[in-house]
Amino acid sequence: MKLLTIHDVGDVRLDEVERGEPGPKDVVVRMKACGICGSDLSYIKMGGIPMAGTKTALGHEASGEVIEVGSEVSGHAVGQRVVINGMFVGSGGMEGAFTPELVLKDAEAMGKLLPIPEGVPYDVAALCEPLAVSMHGVNRANVKPGDKVVVFGCGPIGLGMVLWLVDRGVTDVVAIDLAPERRERAMALGARAALDPTSCDLRDELAKLHGEVPSYGRVGVGTDAWIDAAGAPSILSDVIMMAKFQCRMVITAAYMKPIEFPVGRMLTSEMTITTAVGYPTEMPEVLAAMPRLQGKLASLISHRMPFDEVLDGLKVAATPQSAKVMIEFAN
Ligand SMILES: [Zn+2]
Repeated sequence: MKLLTIHDVGDVRLDEVERGEPGPKDVVVRMKACGICGSDLSYIKMGGIPMAGTKTALGHEASGEVIEVGSEVSGHAVGQRVVINGMFVGSGGMEGAFTPELVLKDAEAMGKLLPIPEGVPYDVAALCEPLAVSMHGVNRANVKPGDKVVVFGCGPIGLGMVLWLVDRGVTDVVAIDLAPERRERAMALGARAALDPTSCDLRDELAKLHGEVPSYGRVGVGTDAWIDAAGAPSILSDVIMMAKFQCRMVITAAYMKPIEFPVGRMLTSEMTITTAVGYPTEMPEVLAAMPRLQGKLASLISHRMPFDEVLDGLKVAATPQSAKVMIEFAN
C-alpha cells in the first residue's frame, strides 16, 4: 500500500510500503478522510522531522473505521468510526494517516482514537484536529460575549477561530487576510468585517469598528483580544502600536525567525502577549459540537481529492484560494 513520506527538503513521495501486523495493544484503522495541513507543507520545506533527510510520514487530520483490534484492546471494536488524535500521528516518525490502512501502536494510551458522533460524516470528522487547534487559540484569548476580537489570517485555523468565537457569542470579530476568497469565507462564518491590510489603514478601520480607548496619554483601538494565525513579521509591532490598555494577544502562528518589536510602547498598554499550540484538552468538545455545527463546518472544505492525487492536493493546499483540502479514500 502507499504512504505519503517526506524524504528530504521539498522531496515528498507516495512510497510503497508493507502494512505491519497489529500487536495485542494495537488497532488498525481504515482511512476514510484526511485533511492537508499547513504544517504538512512546512514539514516538506524543512525536509523532515526533526531535521532534513529524516524520513517522515504525513497525515495527522484523519478519520476512519476500525477494522482490527489487538487482543488486549477493550475500548475499541471493529466497525467503530473514529478520529485519530493528530498529536501522535503524522507529526514525526513513520506513522502517518496518508495511507489506506494505519496500524496505530498502543491505541488506547492517551486517547489516540476518539469516537465520531452519530450522523457526522467522515470528512467533517477529519476537521476535528484543525478545529481543536482553533478552539485552543480561542480558549487562550480568554474572551467573553461582547468582547471585540481581531483574527489575523483566514486560513483553516483562522477561519475555525472565527467560527468558535461566533459560536460562543463573541460576534464582534474582525478578520484580516490578503486573499479575497478567504475574507469571504470569514464573512460567511459570521465575522463582522473582513479587511485587507494592504488596501486600508488598519488602525483607522479598527478605530471605526471597535472604537478608541485612551490610556496614559495615548489612544488605543478598542479591540479586547488579538489572535495571530497568520505569522506575518509586522503583526506583533502593529498590534503593540494600536493596543488598548490591558488587551490580550495570542500568537498561534509559527514564526521561523526572531522578530523585533517595540517593548517600550507596551509599557503604557500593560498588554498581555501569550501563545497557543496544539489542543491539550479540546478534541472531545469539538467532536461534541460537530452534530450541531455540521453545515458550517463542511464549508471549511474547499477541495476534495482522492488519495492517489494527494501530491497534487499538496499544491492546491499551498494556494490562497483554498481553505481545507480534504483527501478522501475510496475504501
Ligand atoms: Zn493540522
